[in-house]
Amino acid sequence: MLIRHVLLLVSACLCAAYSHAAEISAISVSGDAQHTRIVFSSDEPVDHEAFLFADENTPKIDVRLPGSRVALDADTPPTQGGVDSYEIRGSEIIFSLNTPMMVSRTLDLSPTSVEPRYRLVVDLVRVAPVRFNMAAEQDAETRRTYIASREGQAEQASLPEETPAYAAPEKYVVVIDPGHGGRDPGASSHAGQYEKSIVLKASQAIKAVLERSGRYTVHLTRNDDRYIEHEDRVSMARNWGADLFISVHADAAANSGVSGATVYTLSARGERRVDGTARSNGWDLPIEDGTSQEVSGILADLIKRETKSNSSIFAEMLTPELAKAGPIVRNSHRRENFFVLLAPDVPAVLLEIGFLTNRSDAARLGTQAGRQRTAEAVGRAIDAYFDRRDVLYAAN
Ligand SMILES: [Zn+2]
Repeated sequence: MLIRHVLLLVSACLCAAYSHAAEISAISVSGDAQHTRIVFSSDEPVDHEAFLFADENTPKIDVRLPGSRVALDADTPPTQGGVDSYEIRGSEIIFSLNTPMMVSRTLDLSPTSVEPRYRLVVDLVRVAPVRFNMAAEQDAETRRTYIASREGQAEQASLPEETPAYAAPEKYVVVIDPGHGGRDPGASSHAGQYEKSIVLKASQAIKAVLERSGRYTVHLTRNDDRYIEHEDRVSMARNWGADLFISVHADAAANSGVSGATVYTLSARGERRVDGTARSNGWDLPIEDGTSQEVSGILADLIKRETKSNSSIFAEMLTPELAKAGPIVRNSHRRENFFVLLAPDVPAVLLEIGFLTNRSDAARLGTQAGRQRTAEAVGRAIDAYFDRRDVLYAAN
C-alpha cells in the first residue's frame, strides 16, 4: 500500500512540474561485455544524471532523466553487452549490470536526416571491481544530495547509509597483449609470416592453457587483426583489474643466426616515465580520496616498487620455463623502456617468443605444436607466480 501511495505521489508531481516532459520513445542497449552503449531516443533534448551503486552484489547504474518520461509504447528491444536488464521508474531507469562498468562518456546528439529524434548516448566501459567500488562510493553522496533536492526527503530515507560494495569473484586476472595488429604487421619471417598473426595465435594458445584450471580470468587486448594504441592496451589492462600483464611479441635481427626467447621488464629509464605517463593517461592509483599528499606519495612509491619487484619475480620464473620449451637468448631477462610496461600498478613483462629472422625459430613458431610448447611454459610460470602470491597472502 505504502509503495503504491509513493508511486502515485511521484507521478502526480511529474505531471504538475513537467507538463511538457520530453518523451523517450526508445531505449536501446548494444555492445559487448567490454563496451556497452545505452541510447535514449526522444522528441526533445533530455537532461541526465548517472550514479553507480551496488545492490545485493549486483553492480547497477541509476540513470535519471529529470523532466523526461518513458513513453508507454516505447521501443525497448532486449539488452546486450554488460547490461542484463533494466527497470523503468518514471524518469529514473535502473540498469543491472553483469560486470562492473563505469560511464566512459555521454553524448547529446541532435536530429539528423537519417535519425529524426534526439539521442542521449551513455557509453559504459568495463572496469575492475576496485575502481567500480571507488566510483560507487563517490556517487552515493552525490546521489543522496541529488534525490533530496529533486524529490524531497521522503525517498532519501530509502537509500542505504553505508555504500554496499561489489564483491568480485576470487580469480586472478591475466591480460595477454598480442603485439602489433592491423596496419602494423611487426616483424616478418623469410617465409612471409607476420609477427602480428603469430603472436595472436600464441596469445590465444596461452589464454586456452590458463583457462583450463579455472583459476584465472584471461583477457586478450585484441582477438583479431586490428591495431590498438599502446596506451589503450595498458588502459584496458588497468580497467580489467589485471594482476599480471604479458605483451607477446616476436623478434627480428639483422643476424639470422640469433635465436631464442627474451623476457623484458621495465628499465630504469622507463621507470622515470611512469609518473608522467600515468598522469597524462589518467591512470590513478587505488589510493583513497582524502589521503594526505605525503601519505599518498609514500603509498604510490610502495605500489610502484611492488609492481616493479613483482614484474622481475615473474620474469625470473618465466625464463627457466621458456628454456624447457625451446631456445632462449643469453641473459634472457632484460630491461627496456617499452611503453606497454609503464602502468604504475600492474606487474608487466614483454615476452619475445623467438626470432622470426631465424629459420628454426620461425619454423617452431609457425606450427601449432611449437606455439603450444611456449604457451605451456608461460602457463607454468604464471601458476608458479600466483602460487607464490597465494603463500604470501596466506601468511599475512
Ligand atoms: Zn613486436
